[in-house]
Amino acid sequence: MQPNLAGKLVRLSALVKSKKKAYFILSLGELSPPDSQMGGHVSIIVQVPAQLVWHRALWPGRAYVLTELRASKIHGHRYRVWTTTPSSHLTPLEPECVRELDLDLELGRALLEADAKTLPRTSSIQERQEQKGLARDSTLLSYTGTVTAVLNQPAGLYELDGQLGLCLSYQQFHSLRRVVRPGVRLELQDVHLLQSVGGGTRRPVLAACLRGAVLLRGFSRLKPESQSSLHAWGAYLYEKLVWERQLGLPLYLWVTKALEELASKLCPHTLRHHQFLQCASPASPSLALQLLAPTLDVLAPPCVPSRNAHKEILEEPHRCPLQKYSRLQTPCSFPTLAALKEEGECKAWDSFDPKTLLSSPEVAHLTSCQLNQRLAWSWLCLLPSTFQPAQVLVGVLVASSHKGCLQLRDQSGSLPCLLLDKHSQPITDIRLIGCLVRVERFQLVIERKVKSSFPSWQELGMEGFIQDQGARVYVQFLLADALIWPMPRTFLPSATPSNRPQPEPSFPEVPHVGQSRLFLLSHKEALMKRNFCGPPGASAAVAKPTLSFHVSGRWLGGTQRKEGTGWGPPQLKGDENKDQKVLLIFMGPSVRWFEFLHPGQVYRLVAPGPPTPALFEEDESSCISQRPLELAGCTSCLTVQDAWILEHERSQDIPDLPGISKALPESSLTDLLSDNFTDSLVSFSAEILSRTLCEPLPAASGTKSGSTEARKGCVKITVAVEAADCEYPPHLDIYIEGPHLPRPLGLLPGARVYFKQLEKRVSRSHNVYCCFQSSTYMHVLSFPPETTVSVPLPHVYLARLLQGGQTPFQAIASCHIVSVFSLQLLWVCAHCTSLSVQGRCTHQSSTCPTQTSVSQASIRLLVEDGTAEAVVTCRNHQVAAALGLCPSEWTSLLELVRGPGKVALQFIGPEAQPESSAKTDEPLTLFLRSLCTSLSVLRPIELSFELERKPSKIIPLEPPRLQQFQCGKFPLLTHVNPRIQLSCLSIQEPEHSSSLGAFASSCSKTATKA
Ligand SMILES: [Zn+2]
Ligand SMILES: [Zn+2]
Repeated sequence: MQPNLAGKLVRLSALVKSKKKAYFILSLGELSPPDSQMGGHVSIIVQVPAQLVWHRALWPGRAYVLTELRASKIHGHRYRVWTTTPSSHLTPLEPECVRELDLDLELGRALLEADAKTLPRTSSIQERQEQKGLARDSTLLSYTGTVTAVLNQPAGLYELDGQLGLCLSYQQFHSLRRVVRPGVRLELQDVHLLQSVGGGTRRPVLAACLRGAVLLRGFSRLKPESQSSLHAWGAYLYEKLVWERQLGLPLYLWVTKALEELASKLCPHTLRHHQFLQCASPASPSLALQLLAPTLDVLAPPCVPSRNAHKEILEEPHRCPLQKYSRLQTPCSFPTLAALKEEGECKAWDSFDPKTLLSSPEVAHLTSCQLNQRLAWSWLCLLPSTFQPAQVLVGVLVASSHKGCLQLRDQSGSLPCLLLDKHSQPITDIRLIGCLVRVERFQLVIERKVKSSFPSWQELGMEGFIQDQGARVYVQFLLADALIWPMPRTFLPSATPSNRPQPEPSFPEVPHVGQSRLFLLSHKEALMKRNFCGPPGASAAVAKPTLSFHVSGRWLGGTQRKEGTGWGPPQLKGDENKDQKVLLIFMGPSVRWFEFLHPGQVYRLVAPGPPTPALFEEDESSCISQRPLELAGCTSCLTVQDAWILEHERSQDIPDLPGISKALPESSLTDLLSDNFTDSLVSFSAEILSRTLCEPLPAASGTKSGSTEARKGCVKITVAVEAADCEYPPHLDIYIEGPHLPRPLGLLPGARVYFKQLEKRVSRSHNVYCCFQSSTYMHVLSFPPETTVSVPLPHVYLARLLQGGQTPFQAIASCHIVSVFSLQLLWVCAHCTSLSVQGRCTHQSSTCPTQTSVSQASIRLLVEDGTAEAVVTCRNHQVAAALGLCPSEWTSLLELVRGPGKVALQFIGPEAQPESSAKTDEPLTLFLRSLCTSLSVLRPIELSFELERKPSKIIPLEPPRLQQFQCGKFPLLTHVNPRIQLSCLSIQEPEHSSSLGAFASSCSKTATKA
């Protein structure tokens, strides 16, 4: 006889479906014990297919009778449990019908010893908490509530009673998925309550594992939503995460959020939902998972044993993925590009404070114009770690046919980007266009441009002086730091011309019909607006400057036709041995190739469509007359048509290629710094030291002064030229000006840049400087370092500066102030820089808007360090340091000068009487004169300096000259080195002992030399 069991339903598991069978497990307990939950109970497996429907009818807490059960052994378990037989019946228990219950329960206990004797749970929890400080246990409870919102249907996330989260994905809830919608009433049996799970989720979450049951207790009045295929793909993905990756709930919730972010960035324009969520093949996970993989692999390594449903339901103590959890620190987020751009701009303007930007003591001496010019351009570099949580950049790489730059794009917008291949190489692989890029390490650069009218430094903290401000935001990263996925061709922008806001021209796959020709690129000119005359027949009305660039190079062989998947043999013509130079003009949409074309590389120009004879030959329509110089050596000048495609060819794949020098041409330092103008175009690599906006160059301002273009100003970049075996790189200024010259991305302090064909000029003071030309090519070699290490200046003897050749441009010398040549203190109008007397501007007929005046000071000193002498010019705040005055003394001295407006002293020779423009008997003049000759000024100092003239070979160093000295009665003739001219950077008081040491050592050096 098979026994019957009766009792109160104390636990009901979820309906579990595996490949082999479907089942659920219910537990019957004693009818009215004081604590039925913790008391003894018997678990019964229901697995007869016809009986599975009971799962919907059972109410926990009610009493039932199950008939004709048998005890059986579960595979993988050490004990036996009750199971129903096909002839079993379920009936509600009517107490009066029951005669014998205890026996069944006794029997159950015997069978399920481990189950009935609950382990001392509390102590074990404590132990485990001690082991793992951060892990907590979730609470098992039962709850009845109404669904108020569907948060993410494929992920099984709902909102209960407006305040709780509900996650059903840890159960197999297919049947419920169709039913659960707002208004549905659910009874949740034995679900886990998890609080403060982190990862961006704030409310407590109820989550049901297989032990608990989710029972439908009331229907919704709402119509069911139609099940889109998106839901099915999504659901499959989320199931994989729970069942195969075994994510805990905090991580699972974060993943659902991250996938929502990613899908909103990419679907449906870049990718269809199914392309994003579906796996391409069983072996390769879906793109969605691949995008998350770098993060998931760290947080949830994919090597956890899979879940065992029987154990999860039956075993005591209960173990399931929801049992233990720890608060998740949000690993990262995938912001839309528009949001990232906005956040970058916000941070850039939040941190923009004129007062901190100009914090040096020098600021007090700047005129209004100087002050506002220094504020005009500044930049900020944000690293992913400055965002909380860290931001991951995801977007599709496109080449803009409007701006010629590379952009990352998602559905929210686009962000210009600057990419570097490894080894400082520019990117050349055109196949990158259209690829999906994921980058964790990048620099978000914000260049700030400010138009301000601060009258003087005193107003820097006040508002209302900034008229206009703008920001340029872009990202720069290394290709090696990016994960790249080619996108399905059918979903490139070209193939979806319908609802794209900005249709980009097509990048179709290599066509089946077409012709191509190889060329070696030798030079690329700047991308800028140029004037073109139209083809001879066209009207002259469209003579607007067009964004364009040129490249020059030469053809490698003749035109090739498409043959199958490859290219046929080159069609030879009579003049093959001729050096076929070519000038290619890129204008209109073909400017999109700009970022991929670089000197020394071989490209294939492909014209899709049926072959046209002599397509890559002479181009009559282009403006040959415009470029006579370039055309001198070219057999053809060709305008690249919009539909043509470029491919990068690896040069080792090309036979018969004469050796191409991959090294970038660089001018020698001698060429660079000499006044040899046989080639005024110079090329070099350099590190950018500083970048400022300045007044237009004199030559250019003469033509267009006053126009808006001239007022745009000029970008001045100071660089340290990199030269082989040169210990102290010379510094050079490079100017970019003119309305048509673009401001390239990446010209930032700290970056290393290669410049080709800069124009060399020499200033009136014989300084060499360079100017950007329309023919200038540049590419960034490396981005600014993420952490800047300030390199201390070299410590030198002054004689070192006389040796010529390699002298440091900036250095420190321990020296002694021998005498003061001149000293000038004055007050000028901050607006017009005229002399200001008694604080009033003296400019005639001027109505300066503000009567603010600023003090200016300069002093010329003679210093020597035992090896040589130098004349040092100190300006403004450096004068205070030179005179050894503390800030309060300096301020009161300047206040004394405010009355007369100007005090200037000339000292002729160290022993001569001072001459002064002011009356010599004035107390102020007397004081300054005695100060300048006193030992408090004539003292040892640590002088940081730079050469007054940027290094140039134009004026060779003067040879030592003979000079006569009077030594007592005897005249002495000796060789004297020319005086070195230095500009002061700063003056420090020497530490006494070390200065003595330095002095002593320098003395001994000269002694040994002598
Ligand atoms: Zn559980
Ligand atoms: Zn004035």
